[in-house]
Amino acid sequence: MASQTILVTGAAGFLGSHLCDALLAEGNDVLGVDNLCTGNLANLAHLAGEARFRFEEQDICQPFDLGRVDFVFNFASPASPVDYMRLGIETLLVGSAGTLNTLEIAKKYGAGYLQASTSECYGDPEVHPQVETYWGNVNPIGPRSVYDEAKRFSEAAVAAYHRYHGVNTHMVRIFNTYGPRLQANDGRVISNLMMQALRGEALTIYGDGSQTRSFCYCSDLIDGIVRLAKSEEHLPTNIGNPVEWTILECAKEVQALIGSQSEIVFQPLPQDDPKQRKPDITKARTLLGWEPKVPLREGLAKSLDYFKACVAKEA
Ligand code: UDP
Repeated sequence: MASQTILVTGAAGFLGSHLCDALLAEGNDVLGVDNLCTGNLANLAHLAGEARFRFEEQDICQPFDLGRVDFVFNFASPASPVDYMRLGIETLLVGSAGTLNTLEIAKKYGAGYLQASTSECYGDPEVHPQVETYWGNVNPIGPRSVYDEAKRFSEAAVAAYHRYHGVNTHMVRIFNTYGPRLQANDGRVISNLMMQALRGEALTIYGDGSQTRSFCYCSDLIDGIVRLAKSEEHLPTNIGNPVEWTILECAKEVQALIGSQSEIVFQPLPQDDPKQRKPDITKARTLLGWEPKVPLREGLAKSLDYFKACVAKEA
């Protein structure tokens, strides 16, 4: 994908900003847009002097056209449960109108397209680990539905633009990802635990901590996504780290890294919180020659300076 002009929506977000960095490093021109409802310009501050990067504040729910592009990465959406439940209608809109608007851009310019989809398409999964052919177990009206169903609609829209208009589309189902630039206060488990441990506060575990997640370090995830964008694969592809942790084990990893003596407090489990989540990455392994390289303890260590800086800013 060398020397293309690439549109990244959600560019000021955690993953969007890392994606911009990776695309610029490959020699592309990158146009980043974001309406900053959960994105943060601080994530792009280091690109201020970069001539091949341009940022526009833009709500993709409105039709827009910022000129010819060769590829569209659609990463715009509130993404943490706390954010998407607070911004429920906005989340539904960006996953429907926003996705359609960006697909129109790809159609108009004959550009490639990659949709940031999610393991939430599998809901509270009854198939474990989750393989791409599993259709999922989603509550269509529960508190998580504003995100899950918006992302499922996005997948339907992307599949339709491929089927009806021949757009060269790709869909990545992203599993839990962490690293520097994860919003410190977005309520996710890694950010909460790291911030709590660094502040010397109690670590909050929802439920009994036996529910599982599989955590991928951001550089591994971006590597998989860039490979998928260059592939011929149009069907959804899981990208995530298949090493599965209970949330309690995850808290103990954070405690061990930081040398934290903080106690663990148990709080109520939110409604429809998935009991287990682990990607089957056979497809990404065989199709893209990809697999994650960074184990959880190492990724947490790589994220430590960032979270320390976030705590320092609070002081
Ligand atoms: N969780 C927790 N303590 C926290 C934040 C989250 O125990 O302070 C749990 C949450 O209930 C879920 C898991 O950690 O079971 C992952 O939550 P997160 O919000 O990071 O993302 P999800 O995978 O649910 O979308």
